[in-house]
Amino acid sequence: MMGHSHALSGAVGWMAIVPVVQGQQFFNIHFDLGPGEIIAGSLVCAGAALVPDLDHKNATITQTYGLVTGTLSALFSWIFGGHRNGTHSLLFALLMGGLTQLLALWSELAVQIFVFLLVGIALNGLGFGMDKNRAAAAVLNAMGTAGIVLALYTSGVDYSWMGLAVAFGCLLHFVGDMATHMGVPLFWPISKYRVGQNIGFETDGKIERTVVTPLLSIGVILFSIYLFPWQDILPKA
Ligand SMILES: [Zn+2]
Repeated sequence: MMGHSHALSGAVGWMAIVPVVQGQQFFNIHFDLGPGEIIAGSLVCAGAALVPDLDHKNATITQTYGLVTGTLSALFSWIFGGHRNGTHSLLFALLMGGLTQLLALWSELAVQIFVFLLVGIALNGLGFGMDKNRAAAAVLNAMGTAGIVLALYTSGVDYSWMGLAVAFGCLLHFVGDMATHMGVPLFWPISKYRVGQNIGFETDGKIERTVVTPLLSIGVILFSIYLFPWQDILPKA
């Protein structure tokens, strides 16, 4: 799938899972998700849903923060054996989730920086201010992202679910790639077998553009209407 479809699937995926996990406890993490956590989770998950393509030098994510993501891309590509290999495995999702969770336990500041990176990647992936003037677009993106991250921070968003959201975002990416002709080596490095190869729709083809992406966009709107306690959030008339 294209970058924006992956990012959208991350946002919709998080919103869809909210009613399921709300009030539950997994791995010692209690899910008590308010409006802030729903927004933060959607953006984190949207950003994480682009992370597996960091192994490709032309991917949206690789181009997001110039040299920073470019260098990370070269590193990832080297460690995980080139495009759509190790970064598209269950092991990768587990690694990313685990590392993020450790980061969250280690430092509150590191979490904020990581959230900034993922939200910026998500906004870029969703098509927020790109093309024409790359430098200006990057500055606009950074400013918008900083505003969002700061607003979430000052409203006291709890990021204890961060690792799970990142792993979940990666898994949603795999689902997206499996839904296209591209197979995904889920069991790398044990097996190189590509799950879901040659079935599904064409990347950036008619189905993705006229059905999948619009449906995901509608999903974001419907879940936004359904999930938030609008009567409590909005100021009284
Ligand atoms: Zn991919």
